[in-house]
Amino acid sequence: MDYFAGIDIGSTAVKVAVIDEDRQILGSKTAATGALVYKNAQTAFLSLLDEIGLKRDNITYLTTTGYGRKLFEDADETISEITANAIGAKQVGKPYGTIRTIINIGGQDSKAISLDEDGNVCNFAMNDRCAAGTGRFLDMAARNLEIGVTDLGEFHYNAQGTPAAVNATCAVFAESEIIGLLGKGHGREEIVKGIHFSIAKRTIRLVKRVGIEELLYFDGGPALNKGLVASLEDELGRRLVIPEFPQVTTAFGAAIIGQEAYQFEKEENERMASSRQKNDSDIAEQYKSTLDPDFSKTEASSCGTSSCSSC
Ligand code: ADP
Repeated sequence: MDYFAGIDIGSTAVKVAVIDEDRQILGSKTAATGALVYKNAQTAFLSLLDEIGLKRDNITYLTTTGYGRKLFEDADETISEITANAIGAKQVGKPYGTIRTIINIGGQDSKAISLDEDGNVCNFAMNDRCAAGTGRFLDMAARNLEIGVTDLGEFHYNAQGTPAAVNATCAVFAESEIIGLLGKGHGREEIVKGIHFSIAKRTIRLVKRVGIEELLYFDGGPALNKGLVASLEDELGRRLVIPEFPQVTTAFGAAIIGQEAYQFEKEENERMASSRQKNDSDIAEQYKSTLDPDFSKTEASSCGTSSCSSC
């Protein structure tokens, strides 16, 4: 059995996925990218292999993606996160239909990707200039509200009153806005809900740049936040496809690229081997005919050349 690994080295988190020849996920792992990017990615990769009972030598093809992909010199191939995300979303989204729009919110950027009916990327828009509308914004807000980023969803659903208006378009101004709202007595739940709606509105402006087509797929770490999912769905007026492991879609897509490359090489080798075999048997046939005594006799009887030594 051959195995394939994809490593997505994001600005905030490293994601690793390992699949088999049938594209079944054997395991996945998420770890902080930190400052020692290569070391942390390598540790996450090897510890996932250990967990699923594989060794580095069992990995036939390793593909890296994400902003730190080039730092991982051990890779067989590096690929952009846009392509890897599209391939992963196409595969994961299959049970729901054809994914046409991807919304990806990462640690420090957000993207909208448009796919054609065959799942090829036909357009994309990206915000990587400003932390507002990204995971970093949510991390900062959670810190200011003294809650964990994983609790944001629950706080959103516990909001009883009107969501607080969070208008700042810049993460730095939003930080003081949140502190100001707390000072005016707004509840943390209402502030969290307000933050989610503010990110949702911003994200939809980005998605409109590529066009909104059904089915819409939402991934990246912040897609684990059910409050943000609800805000996006409310603002869009449509349901989103949320994968079971939204943070790992891009790593999964990278692993699929390795599986496809291997499959292509295998089929190419088989095609070449079969054409070599056919060629070989043609040559053997021709060679045999020159040695065939009956064949020589027939040729000789019809030759009629008196000087020919064969006659
Ligand atoms: P990148 O690829 O840029 O490193 P990710 O897609 O890994 O980004 O997303 C990282 C962000 O996801 C974090 O900044 C955090 O805000 C958010 N996140 C991670 N885990 C969770 C979780 N369990 N619940 C809510 N948000 C989460």
